[in-house]
Amino acid sequence: MNKYWYKNAVIYCLDVETFKDSNGDGIGDFEGLKNALTYLSSLGVTCLWLMPFFDTPNEDDGYDVRNYYELDTRLGDLGNFTELLDAAEEVGIRILIDLAVNHTSEKHFWFQEARKSKKSKYRDFYIWQDEKPEDDGENMMSEGGSGGSNWKYDRKAKAWYYHTFFPHQPDLNISNKAVQKEIFRIMHFWLKLGVSGFRMDAAPHMFTEKGQVDFGEDPHEIFRNFREFVETQKRDAILLAEVDLEPEKYQKFFGDEDQMHMLFNFYVNNYLFLSLARQEATPIAKALKEMPQPQEKEQMAIFIRNHDELNLDKLSEEEMQEVFEAFAPDENMQIFGRGIRRRAASMLNNDRKRIELTYSLLFTLPGTPVLRYGEEIGMGEDLSMEGRDSVRTVMQWSSGKNGGFSGADKKDLIKNIVSTGDFSYKKINVQDQHREKDSLLNWMASAIRFRKEFPEFGWGSYEVLDTGDKRVLAHCRKSDKGMALAFHNFSGEEVTVKTDLEDPADIEDIFGDDTYENFDPKTQKVKLNSYGYRWLHKRKKYI
Ligand code: MG
Repeated sequence: MNKYWYKNAVIYCLDVETFKDSNGDGIGDFEGLKNALTYLSSLGVTCLWLMPFFDTPNEDDGYDVRNYYELDTRLGDLGNFTELLDAAEEVGIRILIDLAVNHTSEKHFWFQEARKSKKSKYRDFYIWQDEKPEDDGENMMSEGGSGGSNWKYDRKAKAWYYHTFFPHQPDLNISNKAVQKEIFRIMHFWLKLGVSGFRMDAAPHMFTEKGQVDFGEDPHEIFRNFREFVETQKRDAILLAEVDLEPEKYQKFFGDEDQMHMLFNFYVNNYLFLSLARQEATPIAKALKEMPQPQEKEQMAIFIRNHDELNLDKLSEEEMQEVFEAFAPDENMQIFGRGIRRRAASMLNNDRKRIELTYSLLFTLPGTPVLRYGEEIGMGEDLSMEGRDSVRTVMQWSSGKNGGFSGADKKDLIKNIVSTGDFSYKKINVQDQHREKDSLLNWMASAIRFRKEFPEFGWGSYEVLDTGDKRVLAHCRKSDKGMALAFHNFSGEEVTVKTDLEDPADIEDIFGDDTYENFDPKTQKVKLNSYGYRWLHKRKKYI
C-alpha cells in the first residue's frame, strides 16, 4: 500500500448523473459509470472524485444533502455503489467522494427537528439568532458576490438561521461536538464501504465567524481531528479540501502535516488564466513563486476548470477584466460578476495548440492533476442553460443518439447535451477521438502516460527558472527521484530561451508539442514553437 499514492495520482472528477446512463431513464447512474471504468483506466486515470450522490432535494446540484447515509435513488442503490467500488479496484482506480458538511439541506432530519423547538437536541446543530441579525456577511450566491443576507427567518423556529450559501442550505454548527461526532460517523460509514477519502466542500467556510458561534482559540483543531479519525480508520485515506484563499493561508489548512493532505490550487489557476489571456508567462511565474514549498506529505491539486464558474476573485479588477475580455467577452458568459461559465476548450476557441499548452501545464505544474469529465475530448458549454449548469452538460460518448449518453428521449435527459456548433457531440465525442490517431483524447492519454512515468513532476521542491523572456515559463522540480523540467511558451511566436543550470548534463527531452533537437548542455538553449511546450528530465543518478 502506497501511503503517498495521491502525490502521483491522476484524478478525474465527474458527476454520476451526467456521465453515463445505463437504464435509459435519461439520468447517469452507478451502473453506467461502472461500465465506463475501462475507458477511464485506459485514459490513465487512477482516482475518481465523485460529486455528491447522496439523497437530496437537488436544489444545489446535490450539495444540499438530505441524508448522508442514503443515495440519490435515481443513480442506483448501495448495492450498485459497492459493485462500482469493486470494479474500480479491479482496474486500479480509487474513489474519493464529496463531503458537503458545511451545511445540510433544510430538508435534512436534523434541521426539521431543530426548527421545531429550542429544546430539541438538534437545535444547536445549526446557528440561530432570536433577534434580526445585522447583516454581517457576504452572501456567496448573490449576484456581484456581495450584498444579500446570510440570515433567514424561519417561522417555525421563530428565529433566524445562518447560511453561507443558498437559504435552503442552513450551515451546520461545526463547533458543536455532537455535530463533529455525526461527521465522524458519516466518514466511518463511507470509509468502511471502501472509498479512499473525501473532498471537503467549502472547508474555510466551516469555521469562519458566524453569529455567536465560538470556535475556540484554535478552530483548526477540528480538521486535525478529522485527519486523525480518517487515518485511524484507513491508513491511506486522504482529505482534499476546497480552500479558495490566498496562498499565505494554505499552510494553515495543511497544518503540521496533520490537517488536509491536499488543497486545490485556486490561486495558480487564476494566474494561469491571466497568463493565457495576456500570452505572457509573468503572472503564473509570480503566482508560483508565492506558493509555499510543499512538505513531504502535502500536495496541491492542480486543475484547469471545475464544476463551478471559473471564479477569478484572486485577480485585481483590471486583471479580471483582461481575462473576461479574452475569454468571456459576452455578458452571458460571465456570472456573479467574478466568474466565467465556460469550459476551457471553448474559451481557447478550440485552438488545439493552446489547448495542449494549457493541459501540458496541468500535468507539469507542482501538484496532482485533476481533470474534469469531458476535458480530455475538449467539450464546450451550453450557454442557454442557467447559471453554472452551462458547464454541466452530459458526457459526449459518440455521434449517435444523445451523444451515446442515454437511450432516453432527448426531452428526458437530466441536463442538455451540446448539439450545435463546433462543440456538438456530432463533432466532439469519445468514439471518434479513439479512432483518430492525432485526437486530443489520444494526446491526453500520452501526456498522462508521461506524467505517470516521470513522477518527479509530483514530488519535491520546485523552482521557477529565469529565462529572461516573459513569454516563457520554465519551472523545475527536484526530489530524490530525479529532476523534471518544463518549458511553456504562452505566446504565438517562436522563441528560443537559455537556461542557466548548474549541472546541465544528461538532460533528456521526454515529451513536447514537437520533436525538438535534444537539449544541448553546452548552449543550454531551448527552442519552442508558438504555444510550444517541452518536458525534460534528468535521472536520479546524475543529481
Ligand atoms: Mg439511469
